Amino acid sequence: MHHQIVIIGGGNAGISIAAQLLRKNSKLDIAIVEPSDKHYYQPAWTLVGAGTFDINETVRSEASVMPSGVNWIKQKATGFEPDQNLVHLSNGDITYDFLIVVPGIQLNWNAIEGLPGTLGKNNVCSNYSFETAPYTFEVLKSMKKGRAIFHNPSTPVKCGGAPHKIMYMATDYFRKHGILNQMDIQYWSGGSRLFGVPKYEKTLLEVVKRGNIQLNFSYNLTKIDGPNHKATFVGFGEANKDQVKEVEFDMIHVTPPQSAPDFVRNSPLANAAGWVDVDKGSMQHTRYANIFSIGDAAGLPTSKTGAAIRKQVPVLVENLLAVMNHQAMTSAYNGYSSCPIVTGYGKLVLAEFDYTNTPTETFPFDQSKERWSMYQLKKQVLPRLYWNAILKGMM
Ligand SMILES: Cc1cc2nc3c(=O)[nH]c(=O)nc-3n(C[C@H](O)[C@H](O)[C@H](O)COP(=O)(O)OP(=O)(O)OC[C@H]3O[C@@H](n4cnc5c(N)ncnc54)[C@H](O)[C@@H]3O)c2cc1C
Repeated sequence: MHHQIVIIGGGNAGISIAAQLLRKNSKLDIAIVEPSDKHYYQPAWTLVGAGTFDINETVRSEASVMPSGVNWIKQKATGFEPDQNLVHLSNGDITYDFLIVVPGIQLNWNAIEGLPGTLGKNNVCSNYSFETAPYTFEVLKSMKKGRAIFHNPSTPVKCGGAPHKIMYMATDYFRKHGILNQMDIQYWSGGSRLFGVPKYEKTLLEVVKRGNIQLNFSYNLTKIDGPNHKATFVGFGEANKDQVKEVEFDMIHVTPPQSAPDFVRNSPLANAAGWVDVDKGSMQHTRYANIFSIGDAAGLPTSKTGAAIRKQVPVLVENLLAVMNHQAMTSAYNGYSSCPIVTGYGKLVLAEFDYTNTPTETFPFDQSKERWSMYQLKKQVLPRLYWNAILKGMM
């Protein structure tokens, strides 16, 4: 099997890239290697967990999003031999002239002892999968009083805001149901602060204060005992190094530790941290000129979001076409990413920033303020844009 352009992964990045490339040149010979029958709109899972979005609206068949003219190879990529322009698949090999590596991020549920066996029961929930996001709302509804823990791992994650967005929604849910003063809400994080951009963090700290939320930083969640409702955290900061805290909970929302997919991490394409080693401006691999990567699997020092992909795709497409035409690459990505942080039902802070964590805002008002209009953007506008424009290569 040989194709001019092979794309590994038919998720947000892979489908958008193929669609934009074909809009530029419908004669391109493109194959997408994608094992899944389903395509997900993951950003809405936060709202699913808060009971305000239908999970069935977040999934479509992969066939329905595959751009026409693309060869869909329904297999898994298992390894790379970039010197031979070859990718190993679960059943055979494929060769290419140009390769785009966009298989997303790997969720390591097993990295927390006891988690796989208790996830989805015993009030242990997570918005990080299609299967488990609806259970988060079941848990919220069952709370009358007690301790609610929201966890954020120390690894990079997709959508750095998602581990705490659900905490703000839960807090607002408890407030609306008159039980907030019966709840002890705690955030246990592997980070060293709530949010990396001070302008937005300031607002979030006010939201935290309003909900009387207790913040704990520099902790890893190492173990969950679901039936006995106990979570074990181990400190790794200067002040709490190796301190073990066994915390009882009435509910816990877990964000799985995440990494580059193993088949990328163990390949010649990886950087020291395991991500695809690309130039942070051009999206081209630092050692193989015919390989590009963006999205969650790419080694870009920015927040891993679909919003970032929206700005990365045109850069990759322009630069790839330039390389294919033996021209110099002229397009550069500035690290733009965005995090629509829901702070309650009908309230959202739209964080937008670049590589230097400088706010790069779209709207002519202060986006660090909680706004109803921006909540509607997330709930009503962005899902439609995703299915109807972004995946069609029109953004
Ligand atoms: C709870 C949650 C909330 C989020 N909130 C937001 C938000 O508010 N705003 C925002 O912009 N982003 C948000 N995101 C992040 C956003 O969904 C991701 O950043 C985006 O989907 C990444 O796109 P991708 O193409 O890199 O990976 P994905 O969209 O995950 O696609 C990867 C694809 O690769 C395929 N694949 C995996 N392994 C292989 C293999 N071996 N061979 C071939 N194919 C493979 C997968 O099946 C998948 O189809 C959120 C994510 C979650 C989970």
